[in-house]
Amino acid sequence: MNIREIIEKSFAGETLSPEESVFLYRVDPFSEDAFTMRWAALKQSMELANGIAEIHAQIGMDSGPCPKDCEFCSFARCNSKNPNAKRREAPVRDILEYAKIYTEQGANLILLLSTAAYDFEKYLSLCERVREAVGKEMPLLANTGDLTREQAHSLKKAGINGIYHAVRLREGRATGIPPETRLATIENARRASLHLSTCLEPIGPEHSAAEIAESAGICMGARPLTSGVGRRVAVPGTKTEALGMMSQPLNALYAAAYRLTDHRTKLIASVHSELMANSGSNLSWSEVGSNPRDTHKKTEKGGRGRTIEDIKRIFEESGWQVRKGPSPGWTDSP
Ligand code: SF4
Repeated sequence: MNIREIIEKSFAGETLSPEESVFLYRVDPFSEDAFTMRWAALKQSMELANGIAEIHAQIGMDSGPCPKDCEFCSFARCNSKNPNAKRREAPVRDILEYAKIYTEQGANLILLLSTAAYDFEKYLSLCERVREAVGKEMPLLANTGDLTREQAHSLKKAGINGIYHAVRLREGRATGIPPETRLATIENARRASLHLSTCLEPIGPEHSAAEIAESAGICMGARPLTSGVGRRVAVPGTKTEALGMMSQPLNALYAAAYRLTDHRTKLIASVHSELMANSGSNLSWSEVGSNPRDTHKKTEKGGRGRTIEDIKRIFEESGWQVRKGPSPGWTDSP
């Protein structure tokens, strides 16, 4: 197989074979082929998104212990020093304040993140309050536990436009949730006319090219409005900490491989950096409140959270324009 032939096929909009996809994820991240892939991915993302990047905003509403036991998550009960500790929830006024600030700062979309242990009725009522606070135009996404069909419909009624949901790598083995449950939630959301934001995540150094390509296929098959390619953060105290983290050049290679196999998703998220932005990633997440990739109570206070302004600077320095106003497509029928 030849990298240039695969890239030409990708530029022609053709579907790559499973073998060609795996081949892309196997490329040495420091090779000439990797740089050619990253150039091709950047060109394709620029064309697909008209040179426009977006910044989405995540508000973390609570922290663990969460009984779903995802090995990479700082909220998981299996990673908690005190598995019987009381869950900590942010006060409603803080969540509304975060939502108002993000709206004023120009976030293109807001997502409400909770653990799977958050009471669903309470979550719904918060969605309604946030919708009132941010107005009708701001796309609002839910990122909570798995959903029944009825729950998905209730979210839609509460003013939610879409969900963030992913079938994570080694779902059901590295997590306490069967992959079928994750897929059923995605289907329930689709039936409730909720759009999907997803991600190929959380990738660690131990995952093979074949596994990563298979997960990429699941992401693309779910026909998301936005997607991403995210490395796993080695959060201190988690079961996966010792496995380490892959480098940004390897993450950039994977993001490029994903871009070259996906001809329809306009926005692909990744780590906030010029390297990623120059490899075709045109979506980044600003984060506040609790964060499963962090151990700080408020991720924006000395933790991993980055401000809208920080991320905007990275995109603009990398040659992207950042969208002004709401992210499009979320209020259309899926
Ligand atoms: S990733 Fe989500 S479901 Fe899994 S342990 Fe963390 S909060 Fe719970």
